[in-house]
Amino acid sequence: MLHNDHLEQWDRENFFHPSTHLADFARGQAPQRVISTASGCHIEDRDGNRLLDAFAGLYCVNVGYGRPEIAEAIAEQARELAYYHAYVGHGTEAAITLAKMVLDRAPDHMSKVYFGLSGSDANETNIKLVWYYNNILGRPEKKKIISRWRGYHGSGLMTGSLTGLELFHKRFDLPLAQVLHTDAPYYYRRDRADQSEAEFTAQCVAALEELIAREGADTIAAFIGEPVLGTGGIVPPPEGYWPAIQEVLERHDILLIADEVVTGFGRLGTMFGSDRYGMRPDLMTIAKGLTSAYAPLSGSIVSDAVWQVLARGSDETGPIGHGWTYSAHPIGAAAGVANLKLIDDLNLVENAGTVGAYLNARMAEALADHRHVGEVRGTGMLCAVEFVKDRDGRTFFDAADKIGPHIAAALLEQSKVIARAMPQGDILGFAPPFCLSRDEADRIVEATARAVGSVLG
Ligand code: PLP
Repeated sequence: MLHNDHLEQWDRENFFHPSTHLADFARGQAPQRVISTASGCHIEDRDGNRLLDAFAGLYCVNVGYGRPEIAEAIAEQARELAYYHAYVGHGTEAAITLAKMVLDRAPDHMSKVYFGLSGSDANETNIKLVWYYNNILGRPEKKKIISRWRGYHGSGLMTGSLTGLELFHKRFDLPLAQVLHTDAPYYYRRDRADQSEAEFTAQCVAALEELIAREGADTIAAFIGEPVLGTGGIVPPPEGYWPAIQEVLERHDILLIADEVVTGFGRLGTMFGSDRYGMRPDLMTIAKGLTSAYAPLSGSIVSDAVWQVLARGSDETGPIGHGWTYSAHPIGAAAGVANLKLIDDLNLVENAGTVGAYLNARMAEALADHRHVGEVRGTGMLCAVEFVKDRDGRTFFDAADKIGPHIAAALLEQSKVIARAMPQGDILGFAPPFCLSRDEADRIVEATARAVGSVLG
């Protein structure tokens, strides 16, 4: 491609970037990077810097970059049939095949998949389906949704409300009134240091019970949660958490939505996070790993029990009034089919489990004893290092010190490794592609130890 000397300037003048300091960026005071090519676990910018992407984009390029199998499937689909809609019973071979492949991989009690474009819109769909479901069942009052503080479910009006992170609410008039938040299952940040994991789980369950009693179970439709908290800090659940939460939900006839946008299709070393933690969701949200982000596509998977009620709704009131022009877009679906095949052919779910365990073990060896590291945690191909001012007292740095962002910047500058400074707390997150090698894992760990040393001593 010809080098365009105006690109940086055009970018600052015209491009409204998500999750960016708008004023600093426009003024030229915030970092700018134009990515031009990528292969395996590496991306390359237009200045020729080759960077090890230890966050797989936004934990989404699960099979790694530059896979010709997916690129060719997309090109072939675009040539043959770039678009046709999926309304009133229309379909394409790619979308129908992908629906079958998703259901073959999902837990047995799941029945159908609705395809959208992003994790946010799939969660939006799931909430609409839950409301529709309760209206069909004649329970119009049962509509509130419980989410968790530090959960991440998107940044739309409803999904930004479900998200339990301050930045996504502040000045947007969110959360909406129908959304309630309960405790984050974040054992490291428990109040009492001597509390066991089991006691902490019991406390989370008690908080949920209290919230339900206060609001009334007949007003609460669903509980949404990521099997492992992602953007909120990469936090695996404490011992026994999901079975105990699920027992409460079942007792109060509250549906469970498993947001598998990050965990779906192998990131934890199992096909879904629900498999890993014994969850039995009524609805599941999928996106990112469905196509490894080669094309935008998401999905809402509904259980057979929920489907039966939705189908009854159509018998009573006609076709469901929900859908987008790009629902089940054939190019996204073709990417999904090729991606899921590749995951199987290359055994990438297993690799995510084994190399992910290696990365976590090596990171803990290198950093767990550092005086400013409170915890190294993770599971599968997810890993996080949480920095603290004082280990024994578990006191945190002032947010204004930006310790997490400084360490991420040092890592990039010194070693050309990309990790993510998670948005709330001084937490460095890693979520590499599943094809990560042990050598690449070693490089990430060595580079991280060096960056931590240079910022915190
Ligand atoms: N749900 C979870 C668990 C996510 O991590 C994300 C995005 O990171 C979303 C939903 C929203 O997905 P999208 O950014 O595609 O709208």
